[in-house]
Amino acid sequence: MPCKTLLSALLAIAGFLTGHAAAESSAGAQSPLPAASAEDRALALAIFKELIEINTTDTPAGNVTTATTAMQKRFLDAGFPPEDVHLLGPDPRKQNLVVRLRAAGPTTEKPVLFLCHIDVVQALRSDWTTDPFLFIEKDGYFYGRGTQDMKNSDAALVATFLRLHREGFKPRRDIILALTADEEGGKFNGASWLVENHRDLVDAAYVINPDAGGIELEHGRAIVADVEATEKVYSDFQITAVNRGGHSSLPRPDNAIYELTAALNKLAGFTFPFEMNEVTRTYFKSLATMETGQSADDMRAVIATPPDLVAAARLSAQPAFNSNFRTTCVATRLAAGHANNALPQTAQAIVNCRIFPGHSPEEIRRQLFSIFADDKLTVKFVSDAGVVSDTAPERKAMIPPAPIAEVFEPLTRLTQAIWPGLPVTPEMENGASDSIYFAQAGIPCYGYSAIALERDDVRAHGRDERLPIDSYWKSLDFFYEFTKAVGGK
Ligand SMILES: [Zn+2]
Repeated sequence: MPCKTLLSALLAIAGFLTGHAAAESSAGAQSPLPAASAEDRALALAIFKELIEINTTDTPAGNVTTATTAMQKRFLDAGFPPEDVHLLGPDPRKQNLVVRLRAAGPTTEKPVLFLCHIDVVQALRSDWTTDPFLFIEKDGYFYGRGTQDMKNSDAALVATFLRLHREGFKPRRDIILALTADEEGGKFNGASWLVENHRDLVDAAYVINPDAGGIELEHGRAIVADVEATEKVYSDFQITAVNRGGHSSLPRPDNAIYELTAALNKLAGFTFPFEMNEVTRTYFKSLATMETGQSADDMRAVIATPPDLVAAARLSAQPAFNSNFRTTCVATRLAAGHANNALPQTAQAIVNCRIFPGHSPEEIRRQLFSIFADDKLTVKFVSDAGVVSDTAPERKAMIPPAPIAEVFEPLTRLTQAIWPGLPVTPEMENGASDSIYFAQAGIPCYGYSAIALERDDVRAHGRDERLPIDSYWKSLDFFYEFTKAVGGK
C-alpha cells in the first residue's frame, strides 16, 4: 500500500469536501448492486481465510509460493485451462501467479490487467491482540495481517474470476489477474520481474491496481472515492564530499562538511519547475468547484493555459499541493566526520526525490549535480535494494493520459450505486506502488480498492489490521460488476 495521500488528508483538514454531498455509508443502507449469493460469499470468505492464514511475509517463516500455489489449485480445479494459469518467478519461494480469462473470440483489443500483490508486511504475535496469521471474525471486522493490504482484494478478485468462469462469462477481451511477490519489500518484486521478463503474459491496455485508492469514511459517512491515476517516482541519491582531512587545530578553507552543507543549502533554496498533467489538471479542476475564495481562484488560474505561476506559488505554500505541482528533492539523512578533533574526510547526505511523471531518475541526478555546481561532489543513485551506482535509471514514468472514460465511467457508476452521490476523484499519488513498473513500461494504471475505511482506522502495516465485514462484501460486488464492465460482453 502506498503512503496515504497527504492531499486527501489535507482536503479533510481544510474542510474542502465537507460541504459536498457526502453519502450515507454502509450502516443500514442497502447496496443497489445485486449482492453475491450466499454460495459466492462463502467461496470469497474461504479464499480470504486461506490467504490470511498463509504467511507471505519476506521472512524465513513466510512463503509467497504457498499462497500462489493454493490459488493455482483453485483455478485448475475449477476448470481453467492450464495454459491460462501460470506460476512463475525468479525464486522458488517467490512464485507469482498469472491467470487469464480468455476473450470469447479473436480480438485486437488489449487485455485489462488486475495487479495484486500477495505478500504482506511482517506481523508479530506479541504486538497483536489476535494471532495475525489467523483469520478472525470479531465485532463486525475481519482481523488478520493482510485484511486491508491487500489479501482482501486478492481474495475478492480470485473469487470474481472463479465466479465469472463458472457462469460461463465470455469477455470481449482477455482479463488477467496477477498475484505478485515482494511489493512490501524483498529482492524479487514480482510486478517488476513480470514486466521485464514476461511482458507477453501481463501486457495490457491498462492496469487496475487495488493496492491504492478507495473510499474515505468519516464517522461512517463516505466522503470521497480516491482513484490513483498516476504516481511519482521514488529515487534516493547519495551526495558525497571527500577531503584529505587533517588535524582540527589546523583548519583550512577546504572542508568536506562545509562543501556538502553548502550544496544542500543550494538545494534548500531551489524549486523545481511547476508542472501539470491531465490527472492533476482534472484533480484541481474538480477541487476548484468545491473550494471558495482565493484558493478556488488560484486553482482555476493554475489549470488555465498558460498557468498562472503566481497562483501556483501561493498554493504551493501547502506541502501537499506543492508536491502535486512538481518534482521534489529533500535532504533526509546526513553523516560526516570520524573524530571530534579531526578534519572530516567524508561528508555524506541522502537526498530523497519524488519525481514528476515524464522525467527519469538520471535526468534528476544530473539536475542535482548542476544545482550543487561543485565538481568535488559526487551524486550517486541508491537503488531500493541499497545498491549505490554512478548513474541512475534512464526509464521515466509515462506522462498519464486524461483519466479514461472506459475505466472511470463504470468505476463511478458502480461506486455511486453503492454510495449514492459520492464524488469520485482521480489523483496523483505522491507515494509509490507496484503500478510504477507498468507506468514505466507505458501502461496506464489506476489504483482503486473499492474498500471503504474510516480515515482514522487505516491499519495497513500496523497492529490488529482489520477490515469491516460489510466493506469486504461491497468490494466483492463492485469487482464482479466492474470486471464484467471493463471486460465487455
Ligand atoms: Zn499494499
